[in-house]
Parts: sequence; structure tokens; C-alpha cells
Amino acid sequence: MGYDFTQQYIDGAWVDSTSGAFIDVENPATLERFAKVPQGSKEDIDLAVAAARRALPQWSQVPLSERVEMMKSMLAHFKASESTVVDLLVKELGAPIAFARTKHFGFQSVRVQSYIDLVQTIEFEQKFAHSTVYREPIGVIACVTPWNYPIGQVVQKIVPAVLTGNTVVLKPSQHTPLSVYLMIEAFEKAGFPKGVVNLVSGKGSELGDYLTTHPGVDMLSFTGSTRVGKLLAQSALGSLKRISLELGGKSPFVWLPGIEDYRPAVRKLFESIFMNTGQTCTALSRLIVPRSELAAVEAVLKEEAARYTVGPTFDESTMIGPLSSRAQFEKVKSYIELGLREGARLILGEVPANSDQGYYVKPCIFTDVTNDMRIAQEEIFGPVLCVIAYDTVDEAVAIANDTIYGLSAAVWAPCKNEAKRIARQIRAGNVYVNDGPRDVSAPFGGMKESGLGREAGVAGLLEFTEYQAIFDDVA
Ligand code: NAP
Ligand code: MG
Repeated sequence: MGYDFTQQYIDGAWVDSTSGAFIDVENPATLERFAKVPQGSKEDIDLAVAAARRALPQWSQVPLSERVEMMKSMLAHFKASESTVVDLLVKELGAPIAFARTKHFGFQSVRVQSYIDLVQTIEFEQKFAHSTVYREPIGVIACVTPWNYPIGQVVQKIVPAVLTGNTVVLKPSQHTPLSVYLMIEAFEKAGFPKGVVNLVSGKGSELGDYLTTHPGVDMLSFTGSTRVGKLLAQSALGSLKRISLELGGKSPFVWLPGIEDYRPAVRKLFESIFMNTGQTCTALSRLIVPRSELAAVEAVLKEEAARYTVGPTFDESTMIGPLSSRAQFEKVKSYIELGLREGARLILGEVPANSDQGYYVKPCIFTDVTNDMRIAQEEIFGPVLCVIAYDTVDEAVAIANDTIYGLSAAVWAPCKNEAKRIARQIRAGNVYVNDGPRDVSAPFGGMKESGLGREAGVAGLLEFTEYQAIFDDVA
């Protein structure tokens, strides 16, 4: 690999942590501890926040066209690092190589480009009868990101934040901190001024609260679990920081009666719940099907699931790799055991035996699930699908909405218009209708306890701005 991850990026330089301590990074497919990053300290956070504050006055005044040119250069440098980034994602997360290349790497370039295109369409200055209203950067943004899409979650924050004139201190997850180094290096090569982007690696439980309550920080942009998001938001509110939260989900796939060809619907579902080994915030984890079609749907689910091969991460044909860590393995295993105790029936998969050969769990499908079971209410974050039967379409919508979450959903119907009508009744930030693809220019984020605010698109850029009204009596 030939890469060194033993320093952090603060004030435009790669520097040692004041802690002198390190965190090992484990490959969940082989259990090898193959790299280490600094265990960042509170002093490192102080230095990074101070650097971001110093950079802010000048960076916020740089013309948008210059920021855009630098971001284009960042993207070009990042694209040039593809083979290293993909290699790291396979090792730090356990992503199968083909999936790492397309979704974890390739798709992120599409996202960055979308922000570059859309930021140029925004009116940062609007005139009214007696005033001019500006969209101002918020200031220093603390970005705290999870391990499940190590590059994706970082792109969603630092790219729009920096494009709109903010400066950033990023604390990625200790479990997958490596691939992010290449993105930070791309910012460095693109010539962003020192202090605009800072990276501190370290443990969330030690640094998260310190960073998000820091007096030098103006906004918390957090992606992770609803539990930790609530904790951090509460402490950030102490000094009324702006707060943006992308949290968990338990997203429904509503299958309406009378679909002729089951296979495209099942494939769409499996792409969501099985890929990334089910470790996706938007995973469609509850399949809500008409009782009269339950047996027929189950048969196709079993047949199609055979395509989802579990295997070594560097094998090009592997579709499903290990879970990301021992903690995830234990969590998912305990939910599979819980499902059996709650009376659900496994029609695919099993309780995994042990994790000596990597944290592998085969795809599982539970049927005979009722929506009050814990496996239907709690985020499992593994390749575990719950099948829930309904009798009327109203009941299907009620089941879909009977959750604390509201991140994503899908509706599939014989007629697209009918699917769209039902989609509008579901309280979720994003709803897929039949085979409609995702659109990166649309806002992404959750209703209810799935979050606050939005990422992606124009909304995701404006998230990092606030209004200033100047009463200049221009009329
Ligand atoms: P997590 O445990 O909440 O961790 C997220 C981040 O918070 C990590 O950087 C973590 O650092 C840090 N952290 C953990 N405990 C902390 C504490 N007590 N105080 C301060 N910071 C703390 O979530 P995760 O397990 O990494 O990620 C999975 C979750 O993210 C799922 O719930 C998933 O649905 C959600 N997610 C949501 C979206 C979305 O866009 N809505 C996208 C992806 C994932 P360390 O890892 O270094 O400890
Ligand atoms: Mg790992």
C-alpha cells in the first residue's frame, strides 16, 4: 500500500497527534490489524478549530468561481487516486471490491460534480424593496461521520460546506479512517488555503462531545446513529450551534397487490437491504406484502437471494462481504437470535456460528413478522429482511408509517401513478417509486427521528448557509 496514516491534517500540514497514541484499523474479512491512525486528542481538536477559525474570514470572501475551480481540481486529484482508495475501502470496511469501486468510489464523484454544478445556480444575494438578503456561510463546521460509507458521508459534508464558504474540522469514524486521508490529500493538492479543511482522527466517545461543544465551532453536521445524534445535538444546543443530523432508519418497501413480474421488484429490494452487507442507513429492511401473495413472493425472494454470493472481499464476483467489525457482528447475530425468539421464521439464512474467519453473516429473510416485534422496529444494520403481511392497502400504509424513523421508503405497484399516490402518504424524506433511480440533485435526509435538515442538492448546499438581511432601502 505504501501509505502512511500516522499523522493528521491540521492548518495545512501533516502533523503528529499530541497524544502520541494510535488506533489500530482492522480488516473485518481477515481480522488483520493492517494500519494505524493517531488517536487524536483534545489539544489536536483545539489546534484544528483554531486553524479553521483563522482561515474563515479570508475563505468566506473568496469568489465562488475560485472555490468552484479548486473543487474541480480536488475532484480530479481524488479520481486519480481510485485504485488506492478502493483498496483501502475493501480492507478497512470489508466492502467487496466491485461494490467499493462503483458505489463507495464512483458514485461519490457524481455527488461532488453535482454540488459543483448546483452551487453555481444558487442566488446568494436577493434584492427586496427595502433590503438585500445574503446567504452567508455559517462559519466553522464540525463534521462527525460514521463508518458505513467512509467517503460518501464525508463528501456530503465537507464539499458543500467548503463550496459555500465555510471551514471544516472533520472527525471520521475510528473504524474506517483511512480512505478519507486520500480525499484530504486531494484537497491539499488542489491548493485549498491552510485551515479550510482539517482532519483529526480519533475515538467518537472521547472527542465527539469536545468537538461539538467547542466554543470555536458554529455548526455540528453529524451522520450516525439516532442515539449518538441526540446526545451530540443536546450538548451542541448548549451554545445554540446550528445542527444538522443524518440518522438511522427502518425503511419500508410497500408491495402493492397485482404486480405481474416480481423479479425487478425483488432485485430493487435486495440491492438496498443486502448490498454493503445491509449496513446502509436507507436499507429497505421491512417488506410489506399482500397476505394473498405472501407465499408466491417468498418463493421468488428465496430464488433471487441465491444471486447474492457471500465471499472474499477481493474476489470480483463477491456481492456480500463481512460486517464491518466484531461489534457489528455481535449486534446482528443477537438480532437474528431475537427474531427467532420473537416467533419470526427464517426462510433464508441462519444464526452465524462464530467470527474466527471474518465477520461474515449470510443474508437472512424473516417471515411471519409483525410490526410490533423488535426486529421490525429497531435498526439491525445487517443483511436481515423482515417480511410483514397486510390485508388492505390502508393497513400497508399504516404499517409503513408505524416507526420512529422516516428516512427512506419504496412503493412498487402495477401502475406507477398508484405507487406515487401511496408514496405521498409515507412519512419519509425519500421514497422510490417502482424502478425509479436515485437522484443526487434531490434533497436527502430524514423525517421523524431519522434526522434534522437535508444533504444533497441545493438544499444540502443551503444547509451550510444562513440569512443576513441588510436594510439598504434600494427602492
Ligand atoms: P455512531 O455510533 O452513532 O457513530 C457516528 C459517529 O459518532 C462516529 O464518528 C463515532 O465515532 C461518533 N461517536 C460514537 N459515539 C459517540 C459518543 N458517545 N459521543 C460522540 N461521538 C460519538 O454510528 P455508526 O455506528 O458509526 O454508524 C451507523 C449509524 O449511522 C446507523 O444508525 C446509520 O443508520 C446511520 N447513518 C445514517 C446516514 C444518513 O445519512 N441518514 C448515513 C449513514 C449512516 P467513532 O466511530 O470513532 O467511535
Ligand atoms: Mg475495520
